[in-house]
Amino acid sequence: MYAFGRNRTVTSLIEENGTVNGVHYKDTSGRRLTAYAPLTVVCDGCFSNLRRSLCNPKVDVPSHFVGFVLTNCKPRNENYVTIILGEPSPVVFYRISSTKVRCLVDVPSQHVPSVSDGKMAQYLRTQVAPKVLPELQNSFISAIEKKDNIRVMPNRIMAAAPHPTPGAFMIGDAFNMRHAITGGE
Ligand SMILES: Cc1cc2nc3c(=O)[nH]c(=O)nc-3n(C[C@H](O)[C@H](O)[C@H](O)COP(=O)(O)OP(=O)(O)OC[C@H]3O[C@@H](n4cnc5c(N)ncnc54)[C@H](O)[C@@H]3O)c2cc1C
Repeated sequence: MYAFGRNRTVTSLIEENGTVNGVHYKDTSGRRLTAYAPLTVVCDGCFSNLRRSLCNPKVDVPSHFVGFVLTNCKPRNENYVTIILGEPSPVVFYRISSTKVRCLVDVPSQHVPSVSDGKMAQYLRTQVAPKVLPELQNSFISAIEKKDNIRVMPNRIMAAAPHPTPGAFMIGDAFNMRHAITGGE
């Protein structure tokens, strides 16, 4: 069994006569190598480059989730997710440890300000913070001002429409995703 990831990056699937027989990959020194296997499990996540050969590649990105971690705050109901159905889109808070709360702000794709030049923090401060529950507001402001705390990820809509291909099996975010607001354990 071969496993690919941090040290070995798969560049493409080997397909012969409609059957996947393995992968082409690069190692950390940039050497191009090949691995053959009777079954290839494709699980390269939400930015998958490999899914296009195994299913309908159409992906829509209606919005992005902007995520960051709040500290020193106490949500109103600790055992539940808090969702603010704000305009233009929702904001989610949920506890991830005894001291931390994760916040995810849905930002429509037409308007995703840059994190690096500070425009994202400004957007969150002016457009989102006023709609946040009072008990979370101070922590919300502190969190967006903390350097390197803000992460952005696409919310993708994709049909789970595989082209059944002998020799390959696709799972995880590469295969299908749903809006993270529906997240569960
Ligand atoms: C902030 C946040 C909160 C979340 N909360 C929840 C939640 O509460 N509940 C829930 O169900 N889900 C949640 N998710 C989603 C969940 O994390 C993903 O659905 C899950 O991690 C997908 O797993 P995966 O193995 O398909 O992909 P990933 O975890 O993305 O793993 C893919 C791996 O493949 C590697 N890779 C990529 N390309 C290649 C390549 N060409 N060659 C070799 N390796 C490669 C990557 O380096 C990575 O290690 C959350 C996600 C985020 C970002």
